[in-house]
Amino acid sequence: MEEADAKYEAVIGLEIHVQLRTVSKMFCRCDNDSDKARPNTNVCPVCMGYPGTLPVTNEQAIDWGIKTALALGCAVNPLQRFDRKNYFYPDLPKGYQISQFFYPVGEKGNVDVDYLASDRKTRKEFSVGITRLHLEEDAGKLIHTQDGTLVDLNRCGTPLIEIVTEPDIKSPEEAKAFMQELQRMVRSLGVSMADMEKGHLRVDANVSVRPIGQDVLGAKVEVKNMNSFKFMEMALKFEVERQTAMLEKGEVIEQETRGWDEKTNSTVSQRTKEGSVDYRYFPEPDLPPIYIDQDKIDGTKNQLAALPAELRSRGEASGLPYARVVELQDLGKMSEFVQLTTDYNDIDPVLLANWITKDFASTKDLREFVIIVKLEGLSNAAAQKLYALMQTKKLPPQDLVGQIQMADKDELTGLVKQVLAENADAVAKFKAGNTQVLAYLTGQVMKKSGGRAEPALAQQILQSLLTD
Ligand code: ADP
Ligand code: ZN
Ligand code: MG
Repeated sequence: MEEADAKYEAVIGLEIHVQLRTVSKMFCRCDNDSDKARPNTNVCPVCMGYPGTLPVTNEQAIDWGIKTALALGCAVNPLQRFDRKNYFYPDLPKGYQISQFFYPVGEKGNVDVDYLASDRKTRKEFSVGITRLHLEEDAGKLIHTQDGTLVDLNRCGTPLIEIVTEPDIKSPEEAKAFMQELQRMVRSLGVSMADMEKGHLRVDANVSVRPIGQDVLGAKVEVKNMNSFKFMEMALKFEVERQTAMLEKGEVIEQETRGWDEKTNSTVSQRTKEGSVDYRYFPEPDLPPIYIDQDKIDGTKNQLAALPAELRSRGEASGLPYARVVELQDLGKMSEFVQLTTDYNDIDPVLLANWITKDFASTKDLREFVIIVKLEGLSNAAAQKLYALMQTKKLPPQDLVGQIQMADKDELTGLVKQVLAENADAVAKFKAGNTQVLAYLTGQVMKKSGGRAEPALAQQILQSLLTD
């Protein structure tokens, strides 16, 4: 469909689960790294839901819930209370999930997302409202085989953050950009590994399409089973196109749940909603409510390190092009970059960006290297040599730069001598008082060096040899 004559627009809202990387599970002392254990061995009476056992809330999970809610711009609820969400499923032996229904950790947040458009140059931006963020425990895993379905309860009780967004997302491209930003955020907060392929970060997308100009939203279709950014974008594109084609044919879209099928590259109907399920939520009687001091909330907020978006804008402010900023961030180098450009205003940002991805013995070595390369006007070739020498000699750049310059000067002097020998006419002209030939001779030296020579140094050597 061409943008210019688009008659329909997509509306997307996301429901996301983030697996927290706490040491132990949400309400028991089981190891919170179930993937390593054999199926059904990383469990205890609490997470298996045996009668008579009592859960105990993981304080780290509460703290990380608050931290994440603040990072997403949410208002944090001073009352942390859990509720039972009752339903029966084979991966949930307790018959209920402990979640937060009435008092989520945070509400009414907002995330501003800037991202690199598919042309890899343009910076685009949009905002997404966060409806709510709450803590809950995960259920086990069902493994479907040819002979039947197996259950692994290791994951029962794993701490999760659920994030629900407003239907503010307008394209599959934006949905992907939002998820990638969320991944960067929870990783930089240190609360989750957020690896989508491993299920640390899971997303269900609600998609609807409506005629442009219509106020009410269309019926939404929930899309599940998207376990990579790529598949999510493909699934959403497919779904938007499917719904648009239906509306164009005058068909009615029914609310339903569909799953992404990697084999057919399409979404497949899983179930149509017959009204919503009644989870009979009620306050969890086995857990006391926790009251969080406003001081603690404010303190957590004040201690938040710069978020990825802030690092990007500081990187841009230092003079680095947006595409380079994004590239450095994806390589995990943005906070070091910002730190260095903030602490040392004599550092050249583009030069720093070129070298920050290389191995240096210390940040100090990197910093001095970049400053010296700029200060001494080293050519790229000379900088490469200096770097190689640092690697072999295991010495800081200031101890080695003299050697490089000397070698450079010797090499250049050799080239200058050759040029003078080959251009007797020009030399004679210079000696007769025509100083303009100096530019020509410099050009010849540059040409001979394959453009690598430092013009100022070349000219200096030329002048001193000519006036000898
Ligand atoms: P439900 O009651 O089915 O759970 P909610 O209103 O709680 O639906 O919304 C769940 C998610 O679906 C939210 O992320 C919300 O932004 C999104 N959403 C709701 N309505 C629509 C719609 N018409 N189109 C796209 N997304 C929607
Ligand atoms: Zn347990
Ligand atoms: Mg809902």
